Amino acid sequence: MSGIADKLTEIKNKLEEGVTLVAVSKTKPTEDVLEAYNTGHRIFGENKVQELVYKYETLPKDIEWHMIGHLQANKVKYIASFISLIHSVDSLKLLRTINKEAIKNNRIINCLLQVKIADEKSKFGLNFEDLVQLIESPEFSELQNVRIVGLMGMATFTDSEEQVREEFKSLKSIFSKLKENQTRNNSYFSEISMGMSGDYQIALEEGSTMIRVGSNIFGERVYQ
Ligand SMILES: *Cc1c(COP(=O)(O)O)cnc(C)c1O
Repeated sequence: MSGIADKLTEIKNKLEEGVTLVAVSKTKPTEDVLEAYNTGHRIFGENKVQELVYKYETLPKDIEWHMIGHLQANKVKYIASFISLIHSVDSLKLLRTINKEAIKNNRIINCLLQVKIADEKSKFGLNFEDLVQLIESPEFSELQNVRIVGLMGMATFTDSEEQVREEFKSLKSIFSKLKENQTRNNSYFSEISMGMSGDYQIALEEGSTMIRVGSNIFGERVYQ
């Protein structure tokens, strides 16, 4: 036994009601996803479109797939028919494309706006001013087939628990400000996706509603 089922169940049992676990299965084989699936878990996250599409086609259709990685506009069409949540929306341009593909598929696609909270230059995401500008733009109000259900952020990869905590606090505070001021979609604006294997406990203390855990469930990833 590989222990995937045990680890998943252990993490899930500790979560408060209303907190969602996204099991991040990127790079892992479909057998591993099935082992987690067989515990009753249905929410999985991937960060590459090609792998996501392959797993969607191969695995049971009641899985809710989340796209957690950087998404190029030209690849939205491959996932638009089935994706249940896109965590990584970081531009109006991308949102426009998601809206267009959602219309083609006659559905509404749930999205999170990715916020840059880390001090690392490499991390994608919007800052507070960008977020306000996007949400208040006239064009955004016309995109009726996307629904912004919250925010996503990644903390800096560091040993400093204090820094990680501050970054999560800042995401929570940005979330609260936007929630107060937003009129459109307000009742849907409820998710704060933050926390990974190394920092999800801190994230939960700081108000996360959705944690994205990979290696703690499936084991370390090997990249080739
Ligand atoms: C890979 C990944 C995760 C999961 O990372 P672990 O450290 O393995 O838990 C979470 N969020 C995003 C955006 C990722 O790319």
